[in-house]
Amino acid sequence: MKDRFGAWAVVAGLGAASLGLVSCSAGDPDLSAPTSSPSSSTPASSPSSVEPTATPSSTAPTEPAHVVAISVDGLAVEALLELGTKETPHLHRLLDEGASTLNARTAYEKNVTLPNHVGMVTGRRIDAAGGGHGVTWNGNPVGDTVQAAAGEKVASIFSVAHRHHLTTALFAGKTKFDIMRDSWPRSIDDFEVRKPQGRLVADAIAHLVSAQPNLTFLHLAGPDAAGHRTGGMGVAYLDAVREIDRLVGKVVAAIEHTPALDGTTTVILTADHGFAAGTRDHGAPVPANYTIPFVVWGPDVAAGDLYASNPQRRDPGTGRPSYDGAQPIRNLDLADAAMHVLGLPSVPPDAGPPDLRW
Ligand SMILES: [Zn+2]
Repeated sequence: MKDRFGAWAVVAGLGAASLGLVSCSAGDPDLSAPTSSPSSSTPASSPSSVEPTATPSSTAPTEPAHVVAISVDGLAVEALLELGTKETPHLHRLLDEGASTLNARTAYEKNVTLPNHVGMVTGRRIDAAGGGHGVTWNGNPVGDTVQAAAGEKVASIFSVAHRHHLTTALFAGKTKFDIMRDSWPRSIDDFEVRKPQGRLVADAIAHLVSAQPNLTFLHLAGPDAAGHRTGGMGVAYLDAVREIDRLVGKVVAAIEHTPALDGTTTVILTADHGFAAGTRDHGAPVPANYTIPFVVWGPDVAAGDLYASNPQRRDPGTGRPSYDGAQPIRNLDLADAAMHVLGLPSVPPDAGPPDLRW
């Protein structure tokens, strides 16, 4: 395993020679996230529509920028390596042309779906006592909100984008994503869950092409479902990853064939967790479960290794670092990476400006 993970870092490092850095456009104090007044009793589920409007940052893109964030539920790095460029050409194209690593990490506390996805959209760790979002459970919420879990107002990529008059959409393959709608009801302009995966992606593409939202979040559940049915890295699981590759290829093709999206759209792809071979659960804190890909691909992204272009982060090797010390690249970085592309401030109000470079 160790050799294999060591090899993964080498794969991720291919193309790291190009380290063109993009200057960070965030940090404008006028655009800083809202000061949240902790409200313990009432979930703060109505974000911000009365908050002051921001003037566009002087460094904001002149053309409308678009982000398509894709989370592949249960996408194990080992599957990408085993299937390779030949069997997962679209995913490998993103890895090769984008700024990427195959050695990113889930949240430290848990490698299960809902806590990690709430981390992706809030930019927060899980444990509320440590400033996290507090969503520790992985079931279907019944009227739960992230704000109730955290015990305070919690911003998301959707609410920050919306506050800056950008448009948003969320397409997800599991009903547990209802918590996103319930937590930020006015900030997600188009919300769809539960559809079969192919239909969900078709709807997401149709919406992307026609409405051209600034921010689209797409959750693809296939590999996770196959892994739970028949085991990680099994035949069905690998077929599901091949299918994800095909669907991601469709999304990228739609972007490239739509003039308003081509050249203005950045894809950020990661996973909520991996899926250890031969198991039907991914909760154990083992490398195959907590090691995930993280890719940023788009017009202003130089190809390379994300750890090389982010020396403030530490490649964890095969380890599972806590939140002390230099951080690995985690799936929760999706939030600030998306905000950076859109010229917006970090999602967590007390965080500095988005720090990832590519
Ligand atoms: Zn799962």
